Formats: sequence, C-alpha cells, structure tokens
Amino acid sequence: APAPESDSEARAWLKRHAEGFHHVIGGALVPPTDGARFDTIAPATGEVLARIAQGDAATVAAAVAAARKAQAPWAKLGGHGRARHLYALARAVQRHARLLAVVEALDNGKPIRETRDIDVPLVARHFYHHAGWAQLQEREFPDHGPVGVIGQIIPWNFPLLMLAWKIAPALALGNTVVLKPAEFTSLTALLFAEIAADAGLPPGVLNIVTGDGATGSALVAHPDVDKIAFTGSTEVGRMIRAATAGSGKSLTLELGGKSPFIVFDDADLDGAVEGVVDAIWFNQGQVCCAGSRLLVQESVAPVFLDKLKRRMATLRVGHPLDKTIDLGAIVAPVQLERIQRLVAIGVAEGATLHQADVELPQTGCFYPPTLLSGVQPSATVACEEIFGPVVVSMTFRTPDEAVALANNSRYGLAASVWSETIGLALDIAPKLQVGVVWINATNLFDAAVGFGGCRESGFGREGGREGVLEYLKPKAWTGRKPRVVA
Ligand code: NAD
Repeated sequence: APAPESDSEARAWLKRHAEGFHHVIGGALVPPTDGARFDTIAPATGEVLARIAQGDAATVAAAVAAARKAQAPWAKLGGHGRARHLYALARAVQRHARLLAVVEALDNGKPIRETRDIDVPLVARHFYHHAGWAQLQEREFPDHGPVGVIGQIIPWNFPLLMLAWKIAPALALGNTVVLKPAEFTSLTALLFAEIAADAGLPPGVLNIVTGDGATGSALVAHPDVDKIAFTGSTEVGRMIRAATAGSGKSLTLELGGKSPFIVFDDADLDGAVEGVVDAIWFNQGQVCCAGSRLLVQESVAPVFLDKLKRRMATLRVGHPLDKTIDLGAIVAPVQLERIQRLVAIGVAEGATLHQADVELPQTGCFYPPTLLSGVQPSATVACEEIFGPVVVSMTFRTPDEAVALANNSRYGLAASVWSETIGLALDIAPKLQVGVVWINATNLFDAAVGFGGCRESGFGREGGREGVLEYLKPKAWTGRKPRVVA
C-alpha cells in the first residue's frame, strides 16, 4: 500500500497561524472583535486543527466597505485585465495543489485521492474557464455591467470547490466579493486568500469573513450588498429568501437534493454499479446532487442489488490522508448523528438494512457504506436528504413509473439515467423535473455547463454561460437613429 500523504507542509502552515486565524478584509488580516474565535476540528481524529475568527456585524460591515471601495477600480480593469488575474489564480492553485489538497482533507475529512484528483483540479479549471469569460465580456455582453458587491455563503462539503464556483464568475465579470465559508471548514478559504494575495489579486476584491450562521445572516442583511449567492441547506435558503425579499438584492440559491439514479433493465449493470459507487459514496455521500434514491427496474433488481452489495464489501473507510481509502470521515458529530438517526427511522419504517462489513477507524466520525432496500416511496428516508453514505432503493416496472417515482420529491437538482437504449434515455430525460440530467454517468462537473436546480433545490446556475449571466446586470439600450444633418 502507498504511504499516507505527508501533512508536514500543512502542519507548518497551521503552526504559522497557531495564535489563531484572522479575517481577510481589504488585503489586511483583521482580528476578530474581542478576540472571539472557535475551534475547527479534524473529523477523522477529533484533533483541534486551528482557531477560527468569529465574524460579527461590524466585521461584515468592514468587509462590505472594502469590497465596495475595490469594485469600481476592479471593473475598470476591463475583461482582459481581470482575465490576467484569473489566470494567475488558476496557476497559483496548481502551484499549491498539494498543500490545498492536504488541508482540505484534514479539515473536511474527505479522502486525499478526491481532493488531489477532483476538488483541486476542478478549482483550477474553474478559474481558467472564467478567465476566458472575462476576456469575452465586452464582446459578448456589451450592454451588461457587473452586479457590484456580492455576498457569498458556502457549505462545508466542497469548501474549496464551492469557493471557486462562487468567486471565479463573480470576479471575472467585474464584481467584488465578501465570502463566508462554512464554520466546519474555513481553512482552505483562508489559505486560498493568502495564495491569491501572493498572486497579486488587488486588496478588497476578495474578502473572507469567517464565522457561523449569525455571520452569514449579517452578510445577508447588510444594505450595501447587491447580491447574495448561497449554497447550503433548503431550510437556510428559505430564510435567506425571506430576508432578502423586497430588498432589491439579487439572489441565487443552490440547495439540497434527493436525486434519482434510475437503472433500466437494459443498462450496463456493472457500469451502473460503479455509477452508484460514485453517486453515493463519493465524498461520503455529502453531495447536494448525490444519487441517493436508487430506482431499479423490477426484472433486474435482485441481480443488480446483489452486484452492488458485493461491490460495497470492497470499499475501504479510513483516514483521509491514507491514499488507499474510498471513504473518509463524516464532517462532524452532528452530521454523523443525523445519518444514524435517519437510518434508524428507515429501518423502523420497514426498510432492509445492508451495511458493508468494512473496518471503521476506532476514533473520529465514520459511517459505513449503507444500502436501505425495499423502501416505500413515502418513507422518511425516501423523501428526506440524508447527506451521508446511504442509498435507498426502490423498484419500478415501466418507464412511466420510473418518471413518476423520480419526480415524487420536493427537490429537483440532478438525475442519472442508465440504459443502453439511447431513445429511452432521451425520452426520459426531459420528463424529469430537475436542473441536471446525466445519462450513463453521474457527478459530471464541467465549468462550461450550468449546474443548479429547480423546486426546493433552488434557482440560478453556476458554470457556463448561464452562470456568467448570474453575475451581470443587463441594461436595455434603445433609441432612434440620429437624423443625418446635411
Ligand atoms: P447550512 O445551510 O447549514 O450552511 C450553509 C452555510 O450557510 C454555512 O456557511 C452556514 O454558516 C451558513 N448559514 C447558516 N445559517 C445561516 C443564516 N441564517 N443566514 C445566512 N447564512 C447561514 O448547510 P450545510 O449543513 O453547511 O450544508 C449542507 C447542505 O447544503 C445540504 O442540504 C446540501 O444539499 C446543500 N448543498 C447544496 C449544494 C448545491 O449546489 N445545490 C451544494 C452543496 C451543498
């Protein structure tokens, strides 16, 4: 087995901040009001990694003022000027890829193989992609201006990737940002801010205020923020929508999901099993678009579930820096308890529990890969987002029944359809009430493709042309041709 990834560079970085992290405002490190800080914990071991600054309304106000001051000069740089900065950020992420990947794995608990091969490369790609949009801005959107100062609030499941999804388009199009990372996972945002400053990003263009829900709510309430972009739970999204109603602020919400993973009897069943592994055990299932509802055509269900159980038994759960593991730690005890509670409810409501007989580390927040089969469509576990490595399975007989089951959800983020009959897949895809459909694939995140949901999964898109438009303010110019004076 390969040796675990070394954490010496990450440890040295944490040691430099042993006295506690600061907010990053207007290019300066700003200490928290009254020295208020909280611990950030490594979920795999319970170790305190660092002390994070708790932001309050005064800190938020300072950050918004810094972003406001920086916005006009940043917009005035023009598309090509800003593209140079975005390319520099992309290259800086690549230069520091290893450090970013290790800090992310320690802080979030996700496997180093994922942070190294997926999260960090996608972050770099996102900046490269949006550098291109910056260059195209004046040509493609001559009558659009930037929105202004953007407040961005992100969750803990992809701390660095969500940061990139938020700030790359915002900055590319001439906006400035106040970003609040999730309280469980602030470290890579703070590391990114250091890297960005070294790469020459002007002060005030990107401000980081760390803290909890109260900090986020102060950002939402601040009158000089032009737009809020939020990724997180549907519950908090609903509160933010209410808080911004009538304020004139623009809003995009990327919320929860309970995405269907539909397997037809003519599917490549082995390929679909690998699809399920990616859909629900990638990032311990803590993925908004996780394929958490497995819908299998009745005629192949026994064979398919049997194959899936055998594959589950081969998955390894362990320390995030161990390069041989498939699943790392759950982000925090409160999330682990939520998973345990929901699985117990699933069993009490009649589901059959299959847990892979895998070894779990003795300490830390770990949960084994889990399948709940024979689930009723109305069961709690079929409706509620578990946000953990738990897939629930149901069966259907006809394509119409598959569509009805798939759409039987308050969410509408993603769906994955598996069939070797392309006509069937193309017939099903438009009938699914979701924002993203993957055919014979899952979890494809492409910077050039708009990602986002409908229904209670939110609104707005990130990535591609649609995502770019979320950070521009259109203005219609009409008039008459000037009369030619002889
Ligand atoms: P959460 O909603 O509790 O927290 C998200 C962020 O909002 C955090 O930074 C938190 O501090 C902040 N926050 C909490 N209360 C707030 C308030 N009242 N006002 C302003 N900000 C507040 O969600 P979470 O537990 O961190 O993340 C998990 C959830 O996020 C899941 O439901 C998941 O589906 C969703 N998610 C969605 C997407 C997507 O793209 N659709 C992506 C990732 C995660």
